[in-house]
Amino acid sequence: MDTDALTAVRFHPDFSSWQQRARQLLVDETPPQRVWWQPDHTRKRETASSSATAIRVPKAFITQARAASCYRSSERWALLYHLLWRLTHGERHLMQLAGDPQVARLRNYAKAVSRDAHKMKAFVRFRAVDTTDGDRRYIAWFEPDHFIVEYAAPFFQRRFANMRWSILTPDCCAHWEGSGKVWFSEGADKAAAPDNDVVEDTWRCYYRHIFNPARVKIQAMMAEMPQKYWKNLPESRLIPTLIQEADRRVAAMAKDAKSSERLRCGPRPATPAQALSEAIQKSESGSIQQLALAAQSCRNCPLWQPATQAVFGEGPVPARIMLIGEQPGDNEDLAGKPFVGPAGELLNRALAAAGLSRQELYITNTVKHFKFRPQGRRRLHERPSQEEIDACSQWLAAEIEQVQPSIIICLGMTAARAQLGENVQIARDRGKLLARQGRQYLITVHPAHLLRSGNNPREIQRFVADLQVAAEKLNSLGIK
Ligand code: SF4
Repeated sequence: MDTDALTAVRFHPDFSSWQQRARQLLVDETPPQRVWWQPDHTRKRETASSSATAIRVPKAFITQARAASCYRSSERWALLYHLLWRLTHGERHLMQLAGDPQVARLRNYAKAVSRDAHKMKAFVRFRAVDTTDGDRRYIAWFEPDHFIVEYAAPFFQRRFANMRWSILTPDCCAHWEGSGKVWFSEGADKAAAPDNDVVEDTWRCYYRHIFNPARVKIQAMMAEMPQKYWKNLPESRLIPTLIQEADRRVAAMAKDAKSSERLRCGPRPATPAQALSEAIQKSESGSIQQLALAAQSCRNCPLWQPATQAVFGEGPVPARIMLIGEQPGDNEDLAGKPFVGPAGELLNRALAAAGLSRQELYITNTVKHFKFRPQGRRRLHERPSQEEIDACSQWLAAEIEQVQPSIIICLGMTAARAQLGENVQIARDRGKLLARQGRQYLITVHPAHLLRSGNNPREIQRFVADLQVAAEKLNSLGIK
C-alpha cells in the first residue's frame, strides 16, 4: 500500500469523536482505503457542533454502529467508515443485505457488545464504602469483554440515580455523583475495588430465597451466568451448596406442600420462614411479587426487628404514576399494605379530587419497615435515619425499575430527598414538575402532615392542587 497517500486520523476512541471525524472525511471525499484510523486516549472527546454537515444514513446503521464501536477490535473504526462510505455512495439500502460480509461483521460486533452489556447490567454488584467526608459511595468491579462502560453507563445512571457510585473496569471507570453527568476516568486495578461490605449478606439472603431447587438446570444456569463472572458475585459462593442441597430441598418441599398455605399478613408472629421461602419459589422469577416476598427476609438495617413485616408497594406494574411516601405506619405495619390508615384515606380522597384513581397508581414507601418508639401500648412514629434510608434504597430502586413510572410523586421530605437529593425544599419546590433522568418528579407534602396540622381545608386544597399538576401532565402526554 502507498502509505504516503494515507490520511492519519487521530481521535479519542468513542463513537461521537469517530462520527465527527468520519463526517469531515466524507465532506472531503476521502475514500476508506486512504484512511488510517489512530485511536488516541489522550485526545479530547469530540461532540457534534450545530454547524456540522448533516449526513443522512439509515437509523439501523447508527444503532448498530454505536454498539459495534465498543467491540474489542482495532479494525472496528475502519469497518464503520467503510460501511458509511458505501451507504453515502450509491448503496443506500446496504443495511438490508444481510449476506454482505461487512454488514454481517457489523451485526456480529453489535450483537457481541449488546450481550456483554446485558451481562454487565446483570452482574455488576456494588459494595458500600464509607467515604472520608462521612458519605457513602457504592463501588463495583467488572471485567467486560468489550469497551462497553460508556455504552452501558446510562442504564446504571437511571437504575441507581439516588446513589453515588463508581464502576471500575480495567479499560475505563464510570462515576456518578447522584446528579449532573456520569463522568469517566482511566481503567483501574481490581485492588482498588472493595470485595466485601455490609450489604453483602442481603445479596446472599435474596439469592438464597429466589433460588428454586425444583427448577435447577445447571447448563442453562452456566450459560446465563458464566463462571468468569462468579468471582465478583457475592451470591456465587452459595451456588455449589445450593445445587448440592437441591434434591434434599425438593423432597422436603413435597413433604411440606401443605404448609405453604400458611403465609399470611398480620401481627407477630411473623410469616414462618419455611412458608416464605416456598412462596418465593412459587412466585414468578424476578417479578415484583418475588421482590416483595424477598424483602420480608431483609436484615439490612435494624428496623425489621420490632416491626411486624416489611410493607412493599401496591398497584399495577407498570404504572404511569408512582407515589412514594416515607415508611409504613402503625396500621400499615399490621395490614402489610401501604397507606391504609387515616393518612391513606386522606390520600385517596385527594387523589380522587385531583382526577386520579388510586387503582391505577403504584404506591410505596422509601423505607419498608415501620420505625416506631413504644409508649405504653402505643407505637409512635419515628423518622428513619439516613443509614436506614440508604440501606432500604435497593428495594425502592428495584420497584422503580419494575414499575417504570413516567411521573414519581414524592410525598414529604424523606421521599423527596431520597429521590432528588438534599437540595430540595418542600416549601419552595412543591407542585412543580422536575425533570430528572428522563422522568418527571413532583414534590408535595405527606398526607400524615396534613392530619397532624389539623386537616386544614386550605392546606388540603393545596395538596389536591399539587396532585392535579401530575394529572394534567399525564393528560398533556396523552397517557391514561
Ligand atoms: S427497612 Fe428496608 S433495609 Fe431495613 S430491614 Fe426493612 S427492608 Fe431491609
